[in-house]
Amino acid sequence: LSARLAQLRELPAETVDGTRIQLSANIEFPHETTTCLQRGADGIGLYRTEFLYLASNHEPSEEEHYQAYSQVVREMKGRPVVIRTLDLGADKMGHHRRSGDEHNPFLGLRSIRLSLRNLDLFRPQLRAVLRAATEGDIRVMFPLITTINEYRQARMLLNLVAEDLKEADIPHRSDIPVGMMVEVPAAVMTLERFAEEVDFFSIGTNDLAQYTLAVDRSNEYVADLYQSSDPAVLRLINRCVDISDQFDRPLSICGEMSSNPARALLLLGMGVRHLSVPPLSLLRVKKAIRSVTIAQCQEIAKRVMQLEAARDVDLYLLDRLADYV
Ligand code: PEP
Ligand code: MG
Repeated sequence: LSARLAQLRELPAETVDGTRIQLSANIEFPHETTTCLQRGADGIGLYRTEFLYLASNHEPSEEEHYQAYSQVVREMKGRPVVIRTLDLGADKMGHHRRSGDEHNPFLGLRSIRLSLRNLDLFRPQLRAVLRAATEGDIRVMFPLITTINEYRQARMLLNLVAEDLKEADIPHRSDIPVGMMVEVPAAVMTLERFAEEVDFFSIGTNDLAQYTLAVDRSNEYVADLYQSSDPAVLRLINRCVDISDQFDRPLSICGEMSSNPARALLLLGMGVRHLSVPPLSLLRVKKAIRSVTIAQCQEIAKRVMQLEAARDVDLYLLDRLADYV
C-alpha cells in the first residue's frame, strides 16, 4: 500500500463539493473483512456466498452458512452487509452439479433459477441469513432476477422460512431489507414493477454487459466486445438510476465497472451514489471520488452519452481521469 493511498483509509468517500458516496466492498470469503476494514469500507455491498460451495467438497449445512454470515456481520461492526444468495451454475459450478449438461449454461439453469428449483439447497441458506441478522445489519438480495414472479417466489420463500423459525422459537429477524441484482436487460426494462416490491437494487454490470451485448463474459474470442462502457449498457444503467430516484429505492453498482476509477466518475455523473468494489480497489476508487465535484462528473456523463462506442467512451474517460485525479 503506498503511503499516499494509506492516508485515505480514514477519510470519507466524499466528492470535493461534499457529496458523500457509499463505498462498499465485494467479498467472497469471510476472512476478507479484515482487508475491507483496513481500507475503510462503508460496508459489504456484495457477499458472493456461492464460494462456500465452490471452496469445499460438500454442500454446506445451515450451520456452516450461519457461521460464515455471523462472522462477517460481527466483524463489520454495525456496517451494512448485503448477502447475495447462491449464484451457482454457468461460470460458478464447482463439482456440485445440480443441472445437466447445457449447451448455453449462461442462458440455462443458473443462479436464482437453480435455487428456486432446489429448495433443499436454498432453504438452509435463507434460514442462516435470517438467523445471522440478529447480530448486525444484514440485507439479502437475489441474483439474476429476470421476471417479477421469480422475485415474488424468492421473497415468499423467505417469508415461509421466517415463519418456520418463529414456530420453532429460533432467534432470527424477519424484517430485513430484501433486494435484487439488476443484471438482465428484461429486469431493467420492467424495473418500475420491481420498484414497488423491492427494497433496494444492485446493478451487476458484469452480467448486464454480457446479456445486453450478447457476449459471453468468459469467452476470450470475443473479450474485446465485452465492455461495460458500451453505450447500450450505459443507457440501461441510466434507466435504472431514473427509476430508483422516482421510486426512492437505493441503488448500488457492484459489477467490476465501479472498480475502474475512470468509469466510477462516469457513474457518479449518471447519478449513482453507492459503489461496491473489490477490497483491493477501495482506496483507488476513493481517491478518484475525492478528486472531483459532482458537476464535473455530470459534465463527463453528458459528453459520454453522445459517444458512439465503448472505445471512445473509455479514451475520453481516461483523459478526464488524468485531468482530475
Ligand atoms: C455481476 O454480474 O456484475 C456481478 C456483480 O455478479 P457476478 O460477477 O458474481 O456474476
Ligand atoms: Mg452476476
